[in-house]
Amino acid sequence: MRIAIGGIAHETNVFATTPTTLVDFRLGSPTPDFSGGPAVLGHFRGTRTIVGGFMEEATKHNWDLRALLWAFATPGGTVEQSAYEFLKGKLLEQLRAELPVDGVLLDLHGAMVTERLEDAEGDLLAAVRAAVGPQVPVIATLDLHANVTAHMIKEATMLIAFDEYPHTDMYERGLEAGRAMAGMLTKKITPEVAFEQLPQLTLPPMQCTLREPMKTVLAKAHELEQTPGVVNVSLISGFPFSNIRDTGVSVIVTANGSPEVARRTAREMAEFIWEKRDEFMPQLTPVRDAIAYAETARGLVMLADGSDNPGGGAPCDGTVILRAFIEAQVENAAVICIHDPETVERAIAAGGGGEAEFEIGGKTDNLHGAPVKTRAYVRLLSDGWYVREGAMGGGVRECFGKTAVLAIGGVEVVVTANRLQPYDTGFPRSLGIEPAKKKLIAIKSAVHFRGTYQDLAEMIFDADTPGVHRPDFAQLNLTRVRRPIFPLDPNVKFE
Ligand SMILES: [Zn+2]
Repeated sequence: MRIAIGGIAHETNVFATTPTTLVDFRLGSPTPDFSGGPAVLGHFRGTRTIVGGFMEEATKHNWDLRALLWAFATPGGTVEQSAYEFLKGKLLEQLRAELPVDGVLLDLHGAMVTERLEDAEGDLLAAVRAAVGPQVPVIATLDLHANVTAHMIKEATMLIAFDEYPHTDMYERGLEAGRAMAGMLTKKITPEVAFEQLPQLTLPPMQCTLREPMKTVLAKAHELEQTPGVVNVSLISGFPFSNIRDTGVSVIVTANGSPEVARRTAREMAEFIWEKRDEFMPQLTPVRDAIAYAETARGLVMLADGSDNPGGGAPCDGTVILRAFIEAQVENAAVICIHDPETVERAIAAGGGGEAEFEIGGKTDNLHGAPVKTRAYVRLLSDGWYVREGAMGGGVRECFGKTAVLAIGGVEVVVTANRLQPYDTGFPRSLGIEPAKKKLIAIKSAVHFRGTYQDLAEMIFDADTPGVHRPDFAQLNLTRVRRPIFPLDPNVKFE
């Protein structure tokens, strides 16, 4: 059997002021020229990633894998139309060169917005479907933050979303997609798909599956997956910051041979989430309250600066917490991290052990606090390489680019040249910062950091800070979402 695999993945935050370009996708592609083939396979072989999961199943079934391009850009602003058209054109050209294929496995995110397309994945899946014809199974994995549309459902044979947030099950979902493909190729599975779109929005802190109510909701999904005839239950939280019509919570159920089983199961899952809708309201804590709490705490207190989470498209150079820490003269605190290549260069010029005047952060826009003008001590310089420790891509080497640790009194701030979400404890440890021994840590992550930090922290607060990824319905300007929708319209009914 000849199976094509590939992926174009982006989570678009339309409120971010910097557009996402082809260069951003190039930085996240194993092949800078967006070629497919053995280089893509070599990159993922043996990794706990989606494609790693596809490949594991392919080996088991002795499939002839034909790799198309794989391109990922760090979440950010609207994708330039030309970048999307280029990647789509290239992927289709590569796919046509491999035809005929028996199946297609795609690694998608599901929340990509371009200058002209709200639903880029629907467009991409339609193009892939047109190329392979109506009979060939096209299975795609989606992020838990996908905004699923009826168009995507129509064009794909099956869609499988991550269960977990932090996304620690990417490899397992890749395996599951491969298993479903094997079932379809041997005619053991006749997929029947049901889709329920709820009139409901939720925000990142409360989408976390380590916390309630999502812990219980996920357990229900796993229970429903045991129903005879059910192949997969995907409950998708959605990504409100894409601001499209179809943003929000949805459920996809794939059953074997029975549309009725699919429909009934999807409805039961959807109603289960809907009943809990009042439990999804984030509570944001003022920074000064968290600082006050830390004064009497015995262990580590953390502030999740989700509003400035680069993993949700924010610039990661917000300064509100850093300024508050400095003004409060807190001791044994760290800010991980601020994306500011200019400050890193200045620190390198001053040298390790040197001192200089800096203007830290606040340079991308005026939505995340002004630059912090201060004298600081350069405690450490690094090339930014480290190895991930946690379940999200554990063992993977990652680079934050040139990195400086600056000290301002009792506050250490990690400043990086690359814009990446610092969710893994391996990063500060590579810089001589032991998180467990800190009193206060502010982190530019909404939820993923809990994967490695949660067990070290006595208390974690979702910080009340400004930004383009602020988890706050009162300030989210969702102009394009379908109405009525909860909680914007509190009395909406789920029909
Ligand atoms: Zn996600």
